[in-house]
Amino acid sequence: MCDACRTLHADLAAGNLGKPGSPRRLKAEAKPVSFRPLAAQPYDDRCLSWQHDARTVSIWTTGGRLKGVAFTGSDQQLALLAAHRRGESDLVCRDGMWFLHATIEVPDVPAAAPKGFLGVDLGIANIATTSDGVRRSGEGLNAVRHRHRALRRRLQVKATKSAKRLLKRRRRKEARFAADTNHVIAKQIVTEAERTGRGIALEDLQGIRERVRLRKPQRVTLHGWSFRQLGGFIDYKAARAGVAVIHVDPSYTSQQCSQCGHVDRRNRPGQATFSCTSCGFAEHADVNAARNIASRGETGWAVSHAA
Ligand SMILES: [Zn+2]
Repeated sequence: MCDACRTLHADLAAGNLGKPGSPRRLKAEAKPVSFRPLAAQPYDDRCLSWQHDARTVSIWTTGGRLKGVAFTGSDQQLALLAAHRRGESDLVCRDGMWFLHATIEVPDVPAAAPKGFLGVDLGIANIATTSDGVRRSGEGLNAVRHRHRALRRRLQVKATKSAKRLLKRRRRKEARFAADTNHVIAKQIVTEAERTGRGIALEDLQGIRERVRLRKPQRVTLHGWSFRQLGGFIDYKAARAGVAVIHVDPSYTSQQCSQCGHVDRRNRPGQATFSCTSCGFAEHADVNAARNIASRGETGWAVSHAA
């Protein structure tokens, strides 16, 4: 806020907007200072102060000091904020509401030596499947995406301003929903690994878009960023909990038998089924893949910690 106001005043003072009384100048003066909707206004500790007990912030603007602006968050967020806030905060306007994005720096807990690994397979039908056999369905998320896609098609035909606004809101809503889902899944996985003293083995997601070959209707549901976001959430939640994370080569995890190691495309006759053509082992395809990821994690850890 202060920077934008200062810029306008500086422009006026420097005569950049024309002589006093000129149409251009009148227009600039009459217009309230506004921001591009996505432009975040950064604040450092000199122009923003926090009163954690009162849950208020004070902001210095060129118009003076705005005192006692209330903020809120979950109990956990408020505790983290009070203990670990560092550096700049961003003031952001979204859909007519103001948000203050604070930065926190939480020290990592040193990772304990893991007793085995919990393997996690990421996918579309099932967002996350663990080697323990726990599956998180992607149904809710995919339904939201498909609804959004249908709406976008209808609205793109009429490219009005209000249609664009609506689309933007929907896109953010979809992103928030996906982030919430990813937070919940990441937390469950990290909690389970922590409880059982295991590390977490994840697919290395570099180049997931190139790796995944899908029929067209499915391709649109594949958002690489969503996978990377889930991976990122697991990484940082694990670091905070002192749970080791290892990223493994994901090639052939879906075609390899987790029992005998036999690799064959025909091991995977359908989307959900795995049935080994060599030893006859059968399992849900995603669970089988997660087990491969778990054992690759174990091998990878042993190799990198041999010395
Ligand atoms: Zn087998």
